[in-house]
Amino acid sequence: MEYIRKLFSVEGKVAVLTGGGGVLAGEMAKGFLNAGAKVILLDINEEGIGRKVESLKNISTNVSGIKCNVLDQKNLEDVDREILKKHGRIDVLINAAGGNMPGATIGLNQNIFDLEYEQFKRVTDLNLNGTVLPTLVFGRAMAGQKSGSIINISSMAVARAITRVVGYSAAKAAIDNFTRWMAVELASKFGSGIRVNAIAPGFLLTEQNRTLLTEKDGSLTQRGKTILNLTPFKRFGLPEELIGTVLFLASEASSFVTGTVIPIDGGFSAFSGV
Ligand code: NAD
Repeated sequence: MEYIRKLFSVEGKVAVLTGGGGVLAGEMAKGFLNAGAKVILLDINEEGIGRKVESLKNISTNVSGIKCNVLDQKNLEDVDREILKKHGRIDVLINAAGGNMPGATIGLNQNIFDLEYEQFKRVTDLNLNGTVLPTLVFGRAMAGQKSGSIINISSMAVARAITRVVGYSAAKAAIDNFTRWMAVELASKFGSGIRVNAIAPGFLLTEQNRTLLTEKDGSLTQRGKTILNLTPFKRFGLPEELIGTVLFLASEASSFVTGTVIPIDGGFSAFSGV
């Protein structure tokens, strides 16, 4: 029993979560704090992060927030120094800053030729480079320690095309490849103590996609209905349903797991639709 408890433990680990003011990072932070980890939330939105840190203090005081733009290398390096000065190490990095943007979504009465290229670039920049840059900056401490777990956030938009979200999908597809690439690079050059994996959340009802999935009165949009028809569980996921997989990937229980993308999707990616 004690052996299994230790295997899955993240107690005392230093976990850095980008997009820390957001919904999913907030849920994952709850999991880490309940499990005795030290959590540092990074977000560009200082107010959002302040609110999140205050609410998480109910669980544990081992939580802090730092304003940080994941697209600004100098800012990331300053934050890295601050974290290392205080905690001396980084054990877990979750790259949760990201998401789709209204301007990068093809409207209901639009087609791909209406796409604003500037918005396409913004959404690919945030989702792809906003994962690459923190990995390069915070991964350095892990390389020095020869241990660490990096967890990226992929999407159901990777394997098959999901209409309307072209830039977001392209960026998330690149994250899958980057996850495998970094897993191989870090293992080959720094040993098997550093692992890089991704989770691919299915359709969770959060602010990011609420207007795509539900009408103002809470009933399902046509898109929401189509998704549930293709989801064997016949429901949307809950943000807290990511916690178990993320803690597994952060702990020694996954010590031989690297370069994977784990769907958390109620069966969506397994189902042919027939
Ligand atoms: P969210 O919008 O609640 O949180 C994202 C956070 O990122 C926000 O707090 C925002 O301020 C922050 N952010 C934006 N730009 C930033 C920058 N340049 N630097 C630092 N922080 C920045 O989104 P979420 O639902 O929590 O999603 C988190 C991740 O999970 C995203 O990558 C998203 O694409 C992915 N995802 C979400 C779902 C879902 O259903 N919600 C499904 C699949 C994947």
